[in-house]
Amino acid sequence: MIDIIKNLEKVGPWNDMRIELGTMLGLEGPVSSAVLARARVEDRFASHLFMSSFDHDLLRLFLNDEKNNAYELYEIPEKFSNVQLATKASKALLDWGKSGFEKVTKEKYETRFSACEKCEFLKDAPSQFAYKVKLKRESDQRVCGACGCGVSRKAWLVTETCPVSDPSNPGFNLWNEPSKQQLSTAG
Ligand code: SF4
Repeated sequence: MIDIIKNLEKVGPWNDMRIELGTMLGLEGPVSSAVLARARVEDRFASHLFMSSFDHDLLRLFLNDEKNNAYELYEIPEKFSNVQLATKASKALLDWGKSGFEKVTKEKYETRFSACEKCEFLKDAPSQFAYKVKLKRESDQRVCGACGCGVSRKAWLVTETCPVSDPSNPGFNLWNEPSKQQLSTAG
């Protein structure tokens, strides 16, 4: 991540970072959440933004790039602050990017998602601002109250895991996959 983007965290919460990046690029307002989220995980995209800041026609192309849609942000549980969510979002995207944006199989997705549907932690997204990886426009908007992630997206990512251990299945989480603790012991 280029330093200039990394240092944006110092200016404050997510919306302040959007305003700051907009100012840096010579815009009259903030960049979209999707542009900020993408710039934080894609060095090349961040470089393109800064290099095109002297040519607003070119800059507009990057700001409106349809690939930005994959980084759209949305609502999440009140238990997490926006900064925490922004940090979690960036990390999840970074981890996912390192995997080559790989998704799990449909069967695995369905197993994971059906476990979430029965889970006591599943809740409707409240009206607080937050982030999320948007894989499909029609995706279910409910979130995991244990980690703050949108389950319909989270369940697709190979790099994500259920954060809650299954009390009836030691070493495994509620997705019936080895729990994080178990994975680090095995590694
Ligand atoms: S990720 Fe795990 S804890 Fe969260 S809603 Fe799904 S099953 Fe429940």
